[in-house]
Amino acid sequence: MMPVSPLIVALDYPCAAHALQLVERLSPELCQLKIGKELFTRAGPGLVDDLHQRGYSVFLDLKFHDIPNTVAAACRAAADLGVWMVDVHALGGQRMIAAAADALAHYQRPPQLLAITVLTSLGNEDLPALGLPNNARALALQLARLATEAGAGGVVCSAHEAAALRDALGSEIRLVTPGIRAADALADDQHRTMTPTAALQAGADYLVVGRPVTQAPDPLAALQQIVKACQSVGRVS
Ligand code: C5P
Repeated sequence: MMPVSPLIVALDYPCAAHALQLVERLSPELCQLKIGKELFTRAGPGLVDDLHQRGYSVFLDLKFHDIPNTVAAACRAAADLGVWMVDVHALGGQRMIAAAADALAHYQRPPQLLAITVLTSLGNEDLPALGLPNNARALALQLARLATEAGAGGVVCSAHEAAALRDALGSEIRLVTPGIRAADALADDQHRTMTPTAALQAGADYLVVGRPVTQAPDPLAALQQIVKACQSVGRVS
């Protein structure tokens, strides 16, 4: 079943107990959940099962980036957990993404395969040192095109690129945007940030929200503020 809310809360906690303290206050109608490297390394597949039993769709955000054979095997392992979304770095290249897509194609209900374009923590000025052109938007578009041609169903990008990617790649591609911040909030280590309302208006399908919720004095109240913003653009009933 497709989630009804465009919000994905990043459970960036050091252990399952901390994550579950928040989860117990949420509901699958309000948001879906993302498990990243820290929590998965500590809590493992058991937590994924637990969240599934509570009715959540889980985005397993491990950002695979390795040789095609290894990434394909890792994607099969993710699919065996029954997760909703799994991601790989587009910079792993066309053959790596295609191997991931082929691996998932054998499943009756495969996870959606997302490709990370340009991390939202990077700005234009960071790119030349990596041997990349200093234009995050152009690079994100190039990587998104490569990823979708290789079989990815969506990409993770900054909301700043969402409109350009939507125009260029059409309505089918899923656009998942982290780096979501209120207009007056700290960016933390993020760089290409946008407000929830602006990100949805720019064409994002899903917003990934971590610290604005998890580090808030009252996480549920913080999430409800963001839900309200989504309602204002007609994305949550
Ligand atoms: O706390 P914050 O809202 O910045 O968290 C964003 C979340 O999205 C983190 O879990 C981070 O790992 C993830 N993410 C990201 N940029 C990407 C892909 C995922 O920030 N390109």
